[in-house]
Amino acid sequence: MIFELLKQQRRRRLRARPFPKDWLTLIHRHVVFFHRLSASDRAELLGHIQVFLAEKRFEGCGGFAITDEVRVTIAAQACLLLLHRRTDYFPDLLTILVYPSPYMVEEKRQVGEHVWEQGTVGRLGETGRRMGSLVLSWGAVKHAAVDPADGKNVVLHEFAHQLDFENHAADGVPELATREQQLAWSEVMRSEFASLRAADESGILTLLDTYGATDPVEFFAVSVEAFFERPQALRARHPRLYEELRNYFNQDPVEYSAE
Ligand SMILES: [Zn+2]
Repeated sequence: MIFELLKQQRRRRLRARPFPKDWLTLIHRHVVFFHRLSASDRAELLGHIQVFLAEKRFEGCGGFAITDEVRVTIAAQACLLLLHRRTDYFPDLLTILVYPSPYMVEEKRQVGEHVWEQGTVGRLGETGRRMGSLVLSWGAVKHAAVDPADGKNVVLHEFAHQLDFENHAADGVPELATREQQLAWSEVMRSEFASLRAADESGILTLLDTYGATDPVEFFAVSVEAFFERPQALRARHPRLYEELRNYFNQDPVEYSAE
């Protein structure tokens, strides 16, 4: 309890600190959605960034050097997910590992009922419930920050997974306040996930990235990307999904969208 109080106090102090001018310049230069936010949202975001950067460790991988540009560009996008909500700042996450470009991993994937293929694939990012870390490719992070409306954002995607873990399960369901909200959420997600799977199987073009048809966990992360990057289209084509996300995030990206 005392630790919780001290933590809250420390975070209040961090949020109230004057925001470093050179960080603000970097945000203006690299994070396109920032200038579309209302003045009060911008102020709230900058406060969250101060806490985020004070609490999370960054490590460069593959010879990559971490600079303020890297830290601030990642933090600004991740903290967009925290606006207007009580938050514990991605509590399971300690370290953010950054590679200069897509990093190669050995992956086994199923190509037929009993057929598996093993090969080397490039990845843009990943995280896991017990990893305590989150991996990003800087190339993809930068691209996501300057193009806020292509429907893809690796930072929002990976940090959405972290939100999913907050209720101690990786199941595509973040922490929801009430039983009612949980019921509505699972009903909407189940049917939206099923229709994305069906569309994927029949090769129909979809607004949501069909990577979301993998499982409910990826479905949530992909939906979050669309919610912030293509809110107009998502609201028009998947109104119930949009509404559940709007309730959870307590914000309405249509108001500041670049679509
Ligand atoms: Zn994912």
